[in-house]
Amino acid sequence: MRSQVAGRLAALAAAVHGVRECAGLGLASEELTELLRGVFQQGNGLEAAFTSLVGALDRSEQQRLHGQAVCQAWLHEELHLSEGAAYGRVRLARALPSRPATASAFEAGAIGFSHAVTVTRTLDRIEAGGTEPELAESLLVDRAVECDPGQLRDFAKDLRHRLNPREVAAEEDRAHEFRFLDVRQRWDGSFELTGQAGIEQGTRLRTALEGVLGRKRKDDGRSPGQRRMDALDELARRALDSGELPARAGQKPHLLVSTTLETLRGDPEAGVALLNWKTPISGAMVRRIASDAELVPMLVDQQGNPLWLGRRRRTGNDKQFLALMQRDRRCRWPGCSREPDHCQGHHRVAWAKGGETNLEDLALFCPFHHALWTQGYRPKRLPDGRVITVPPGERLEPWFGPAVAERAPPVDPVGP
Ligand SMILES: [Zn+2]
Repeated sequence: MRSQVAGRLAALAAAVHGVRECAGLGLASEELTELLRGVFQQGNGLEAAFTSLVGALDRSEQQRLHGQAVCQAWLHEELHLSEGAAYGRVRLARALPSRPATASAFEAGAIGFSHAVTVTRTLDRIEAGGTEPELAESLLVDRAVECDPGQLRDFAKDLRHRLNPREVAAEEDRAHEFRFLDVRQRWDGSFELTGQAGIEQGTRLRTALEGVLGRKRKDDGRSPGQRRMDALDELARRALDSGELPARAGQKPHLLVSTTLETLRGDPEAGVALLNWKTPISGAMVRRIASDAELVPMLVDQQGNPLWLGRRRRTGNDKQFLALMQRDRRCRWPGCSREPDHCQGHHRVAWAKGGETNLEDLALFCPFHHALWTQGYRPKRLPDGRVITVPPGERLEPWFGPAVAERAPPVDPVGP
């Protein structure tokens, strides 16, 4: 028996080796696509064979150990499948014997593992709803042969909705019940976000994130995850800036920074500042926040008791910001065209370092380029007219791209 197993494995390894060798034979495209199609189909067939072996092991262990999930644990611990994947394998292996059409399409390689999972789980639900599954199975398998797993899931949901709309609605409600968002502050002050959303909330969130992000620019080096986090931050910033959030303790919610003058100026040996009265932050972060903030100077004594509270002052006032939007019309980073209402005013000289808030010292930047600028990146025009981004360190005269209004006469917004 052992030698039989060893012989079959050797034959399989030899076949795989033969296929791998084809990559180096210099085959023509038509031959390669034919080969790929065949290998893919055989791969599906191999997955099906693997699944039936899992089924055989599961049945024998169940008999021996009275129904314990030994096979699933073995797949996880010995083959290092994730727990979810191990569960999925065993569940499919148990379902396939009663779904002959699905099993034979899987064995023939016409459908893959995830197709088979979708078909069998859909049939389980249809059967639980009191409908005979035979017709549904042939519809699902016919469809599975022609489409990718995502399209098959949509088709399956449509089919279930036709048969039992109330069950589909209940399932959506259950998914919504599982919603949560965890915003946990870690030891270093940064935050960890985890969460789950139902279909409607998740779609609305993603639509808003994508709306804020716009199309990805070629010079945007952020990862997709970084872009999504930046987009979420921009949504939060806009909500706070809009002033439409309900007040708490008589204050509209916003970020509060308390700092000494030394920290704000970046003097040597200056201590950290506090964000929202509790999180310590660096002077560099204070200056970044202060570059676009409403500031309330408060003078405190050595013990921290308030002595004097000044008037609120925005670093660029609203009228000035309108004038800036009128002048610049878009992000001033050369080559960027984010619209003004997606932009923020930026000071040529940081406010904390004594920069004035004259219009000439302000420029519009989109959040992405604003962040680049404050990190020290600069656009630089090469002699041939191309614009490159220079990393911090190279000393360059601050240079913004031309404002739209400086290049073309402004369009009368009212019209004739
Ligand atoms: Zn920009």
